[in-house]
Amino acid sequence: MSFFRRTPLPPALQPSLPPLAVPPPPVPPTPDVPGLSLQAARTILKQIEQVGVDPYAVDPRCTHCRGLHDKACPRVRSMEFSPAGQLIGVVFWKSWNSDDVLWPEQVVEIVMKAEQDELDLKAKG
Ligand SMILES: [Zn+2]
Repeated sequence: MSFFRRTPLPPALQPSLPPLAVPPPPVPPTPDVPGLSLQAARTILKQIEQVGVDPYAVDPRCTHCRGLHDKACPRVRSMEFSPAGQLIGVVFWKSWNSDDVLWPEQVVEIVMKAEQDELDLKAKG
């Protein structure tokens, strides 16, 4: 069996050169939105709190947007680096899928709600 086609394709099926394309405007990525479990929220909150007291703690917040996300920053459109490799500029998207970024306030909210639910349960039981 050969992969080469011996008879020419009918004109309708002949490949044609693609038209000179103007690249479409860039669109911010829209990856799947991960849910945040209570355990993960507590861990993240602890990390953020540690940053306040321990200068060597690892800050889970994005260095660019100060939000929390598990992939490359969905707000960053492009970055500019100096010849020495230092980040000298960040361009953000005007809009982006905000579901991809959690804010520390949301994490606090999740943990506080869970703690209140626990207190309510204890009060009842
Ligand atoms: Zn970010």
